[in-house]
Parts: sequence; C-alpha cells; structure tokens
Amino acid sequence: MSNARKVAVVTGSNKGIGFAIVKELCAKFDGDVFVTSRDEGRGKAAVEELKKLGFQPNFHQLDIDDESSVLRFKDYLKSEYGGLDVLVNNAAIAFKNDATEPFSEQATLTMRTNFFNTLRFCNIIFPLLKPHARVVNVSSSVGHLRKIPGDDDVSVALRKKLSSSDLTVEELVKMIEDFVKAAQTGNHQKLGWPNSAYSTSKIGISALTRIQQKAFDHDSREDIVVNSVHPGYVDTDMTSHKGPLTIEQGAVAPSWLALLPSNIKEPKGGYVWYEKQIVDWVNGPVPTVV
Ligand code: NDP
Repeated sequence: MSNARKVAVVTGSNKGIGFAIVKELCAKFDGDVFVTSRDEGRGKAAVEELKKLGFQPNFHQLDIDDESSVLRFKDYLKSEYGGLDVLVNNAAIAFKNDATEPFSEQATLTMRTNFFNTLRFCNIIFPLLKPHARVVNVSSSVGHLRKIPGDDDVSVALRKKLSSSDLTVEELVKMIEDFVKAAQTGNHQKLGWPNSAYSTSKIGISALTRIQQKAFDHDSREDIVVNSVHPGYVDTDMTSHKGPLTIEQGAVAPSWLALLPSNIKEPKGGYVWYEKQIVDWVNGPVPTVV
C-alpha cells in the first residue's frame, strides 16, 4: 500500500466498447485507468493506440476465465492502490448466429464467461472496493427480464423468481446452472428461458446487479453503487460490425455510470439504456433497439 491515487478498471478493454470506455475514463476520471486484456500483446497494442491519442492508460493482464490471473490482478491492485474505485465488467463472449457449435456447448461456454466467471471476478475483487466505488455490469437489450417470453405458468414463475427482492446469489446461480443443464438436452425453453444462451447470460447479469446493490446498501463501506447497462447496438467484432453506433457512442452510458457522483439516489441496482435512460427491468417496456 498505497498510493492515494484513485483507480479504474475495465475488463476486456483491448478493443470494442471496453476500449472506448477506457478512452472516456482517461479523459474524465481523476485517477489511473487500466486497460486489461487476456492477451498481453493485444492489451499493450491498445495502450499504444491510446497513447497516440494523448492518453496515459495503464495495463494489466486479466483473463476472467483464469482464476490465477484474477488473483494476480487483485494482489497487484491491493499493493499498488490499496483498493479500487471504478470497475466496469465489460468482458463477454457471444457466439455468432451462424455458429456451428451445438447449443449445449454454446450454453456452457457463454454462461461460463458471461455469468459464472464474471460473478467469480466480482466475488474476488469486491472486497477491494472503496467507499463511493462505482461498478458497472455491461448487460444488453436482451438482458431485460421481458426477454423471457411467454405467459404460461412456468415463464411467469421464472420472471417472478428472478425479479423477487428476496432472490439470493445462491438461488440465482442454481437457476443459471439449471439452464445450462437443461440446455444439454435442449430442454431449456421448457424451464421458461429464451432460446439464447447470450440473452440468458445477460438476464442473469442484470438480476445479479440488483442483488449486488442490495448487499452494498448494507455494506459498512459507504455509497457503493452498481448498475447494469445496455450500451446500444454497436459496431464491434461481437456484432460483426453490424451495429449502427460507434464504440464511443456505446461507451457513453457505461462511462456515465462509472462516474456517477457521490451519494446519488439513482440509478442504483438499475438497468440503464444507452441513452442514460433508467428502464424498468421488471415491467418494461423495453425501449426500441437502434
Ligand atoms: P468485443 O467482442 O468487441 O470485445 C469483447 C472484449 O471482451 C474483448 O476485449 C475480449 O478479449 C474480451 N474478453 C472476452 N472474454 C474474456 C475473458 N475471459 N477475459 C477477459 N476478457 C475477455 O465485444 P463488444 O465490445 O461488442 O462488447 C462489450 C460488452 O458489451 C460485452 O459485455 C457485450 O456483451 C456487451 N454488448 C455489446 C453490444 C454490441 O452491440 N456490441 C450490445 C449489447 C451488449 P479478446 O480480444 O481477447 O477476445
């Protein structure tokens, strides 16, 4: 310890929306900003690109699928900064619509990175969060609760459980594990889930965000805020460059949430749209996707 300097971290920020969030934070955040990347070469290339634009980001290797990488990064943050002020959980994967991998495999791998390993990362890193820390979980338009279709009893019960204010992390984990299990035999829709592993992973992240905020509300550290966000439909590798928004436009809402001022009343545990609009995750309506 420590360096009283503040520090911000964006996971999966060697390219795409994460890269643009780092750029925005470099311009606006009063402290050090970390590009993190699972691949050191890609991460350092991103840092060089940002330096050419006049920014001074830091770099650390981070693969959220590799627990030892996460633990190394945690130790580094602890010894260099004594904590963490801003965390943007941006890293995620998505299979393409024409992917040939069976749905069972897509479900296993998508949930592993986007849900289970994002949760593990939070569990390892959250003890470092300082009072007034801001956490942003990058979700999606398909992470809205209403993406669970159907008015049958099973779908209604699934939505009800996911949106219950009593839902625990353990119960949510069990529900997502049940999705993965059911996906092995193609039975996931019988449990009410959408026919998309990616959508389910993001519904899980937005549900998790609500539980995390409740825990922060009772934390001894003052004023820690977490929100999930749909960044918009953005021109990145993930969308095969079909999204109409630039990565800078996609970074607007995540960066805004990362820099929310002290002691704000809302959004907290909210679901926020790319135009900074707070959307009712439980009842909708889901705004139009650009
Ligand atoms: P990209 O595919 O362009 O970038 C994803 C980033 O995540 C890359 O840096 C990738 O690293 C990294 N990543 C993937 N797995 C891991 C891992 N295990 N550990 C660390 N980093 C990892 O995606 P986008 O920029 O489009 O997406 C960013 C976020 O926004 C995601 O959460 C996505 O789901 C969400 N989103 C995107 C939308 C869009 O329209 N683009 C719409 C809605 C949500 P590498 O380069 O090594 O693969």
